[in-house]
Amino acid sequence: MPTSLEILSHADTHHAIEIADRVWWVGHVIPDDTFQCHVYLLEQGDQSVLFDPGSRLTFAHTLRKIEEVVSLSAIRYYVCHHQDPDITAALPLIDELIARSDAAIVTHWRAQALLKHYGLKLPFWLIDEHDWRLELEDRTLEFIFTPYAHFPGAFCSFDRSTGVLFSSDLFGGFTAQPQLVALDESHFDAVRPFHEHYMPSSDILDYALSQIERHPVAMIAAQHGSIIPQHLVGFMIDKLRHLDCGLYLLGQGDTDIKRLSLLNRTLRDITETMLLYRDFRDIATRLLEVVQRNLPVTHIDYYAALPDGQVLSLKANARFVGIVEPVVPDVCKFVGQTLSDWQRAHTEDPATADHELRPEGFCLQPEKQHGASIAVPLTATNSEQIDAMAILAFDSRPLITSSIAQLIVQMIEPLKIALEREVIYRSIDLERERAYQRSIRDPLTKLFTRVYMQDVMKRHLALQERDMAPPVAAVLLDLDHFKQINDSYGHSAGDRVLEQVAELIQQQCRSVDVPVRFGGEEFLILVIGQQIKGAIELATRLRAEIAQHPFDISGERPLEVTASLGVAQRGADEPLESLIHRADMALYEAKRAGRNRYEVAEPSQSEYASSA
Ligand code: GH3
Ligand code: MG
Ligand code: MG
Repeated sequence: MPTSLEILSHADTHHAIEIADRVWWVGHVIPDDTFQCHVYLLEQGDQSVLFDPGSRLTFAHTLRKIEEVVSLSAIRYYVCHHQDPDITAALPLIDELIARSDAAIVTHWRAQALLKHYGLKLPFWLIDEHDWRLELEDRTLEFIFTPYAHFPGAFCSFDRSTGVLFSSDLFGGFTAQPQLVALDESHFDAVRPFHEHYMPSSDILDYALSQIERHPVAMIAAQHGSIIPQHLVGFMIDKLRHLDCGLYLLGQGDTDIKRLSLLNRTLRDITETMLLYRDFRDIATRLLEVVQRNLPVTHIDYYAALPDGQVLSLKANARFVGIVEPVVPDVCKFVGQTLSDWQRAHTEDPATADHELRPEGFCLQPEKQHGASIAVPLTATNSEQIDAMAILAFDSRPLITSSIAQLIVQMIEPLKIALEREVIYRSIDLERERAYQRSIRDPLTKLFTRVYMQDVMKRHLALQERDMAPPVAAVLLDLDHFKQINDSYGHSAGDRVLEQVAELIQQQCRSVDVPVRFGGEEFLILVIGQQIKGAIELATRLRAEIAQHPFDISGERPLEVTASLGVAQRGADEPLESLIHRADMALYEAKRAGRNRYEVAEPSQSEYASSA
């Protein structure tokens, strides 16, 4: 049985600690060393076993702890899970100290091939020649082959009687604060970088984990980091299964393991962000947070080409709500150009000559006043054409190390996808907006259509009936003898007149009013929030404005045009059609009375509440 977590977590590391029945920790805590090397002793009388004897630096301490349990001469087997110095450098010291002739180094033949170069007296006992088992006094040690997890001959040892797995480098961790036993899942933060950095690939790690999983592991006695108690064993195996290994391939030449781990986490977070979020605003916000962990970026802005040639800008200070701006930064002139143009400009164009063009394809540009920015051109897949730009802003000029360059390169793919998606959404929005405008605006006069009028008035009248909207009046306007204008000057001259009448109407209306092209040369203005008096004032002004306006029909002398108008005030609950009909009646009166005038309809008499 393993010792309880409660006891282990308070154990005094100045002495040997029994971590399970007859299994002892005899390591030594080296201050300020992220690689704590743990040595374990399996006490079996004069057949005792020492696992990974350890470093020459700490062996004196280990020896003292061993002798708290058994004398060194009681140790018969020295298990070396592989041949690294932190495991085997003490062997020559041991070789000097021991007298018994049956003592042996227990290892795999591949490690033996290397360890023999120590020229030791101690013989080898090869696990592969002994059916991967070692019979002891009260238990059998089983050896688990975990090749290439660190070394081609690497293996672990399993004591089935206690469930302790002596895992060597597997399940090791980098610990800033030495701690004998892991207490909770947060220990994975120490295990993760160690494995990311030291395990060559997830396939190899996966194979090792599958071998280990076949055994009923109750405690992992790792050589580095902390001992992993039973309640965390399954969790650690599961987490390691989903780990990206082979971190050494990233940031080559960078020896700062913590920074590499951070970079690896960053790359993972970028991928995760892309998987989790759909909306560009969310992606951009999260990406900025992720990048800021590695770089002192103040903000990142994006510029993307729209199909119509305009540039969509998505800026951090506007929460990435895309807008089409007339003025974009100089560097955005490359949006729509090719990567070759971009490179050429950086060598030939004086405007960009001071930009540090990186082999990775982005540039660092000093700002005129202060700070600097990194401009990253983003091309479409399999294309040379720059579709978008990401601009990373800094308060001061950043130093671009190879790992930073790598981080920026890693951002490119996800950003391309996110921006491409955003441009598609945006184009659909713009097209929808255009289609909507087409449906609500008359193309010639740009006044509202009847369809739109019906739509807004339906809502307005419904609100008015509940006293929640202001009153409504109608002014219907028809040009006088318009047919003659067409006949005398042509249809397009007629069109010019209609356009100018519409402009006059727009000028005279307030923004709340609804001016509509009601028919050919008929216009309707729904006057909102005014009693009949306001509508009459509008009709008066409009009649006068039109009558005195010199209508320009290009080439000809300006025309004089007049209009007749009918005004009506909406009665209680009166339907729109009825209101317009009464305005039309008044208009007819104005025509009959000689044109170029307005008439006011009698107030509505009927009660409509029941017929609505
Ligand atoms: P009145 O209203 O004063 O009785 O005379 P009118 O000549 O204006 O009479 P009517 O309403 O019958 O004529 C309307 C003319 O407007 C007929 C049609 O050719 C013309 N029209 C309708 N829509 C358009 C248009 O979009 N452009 C042009 N140029 N003419 C149009
Ligand atoms: Mg007419
Ligand atoms: Mg007319």
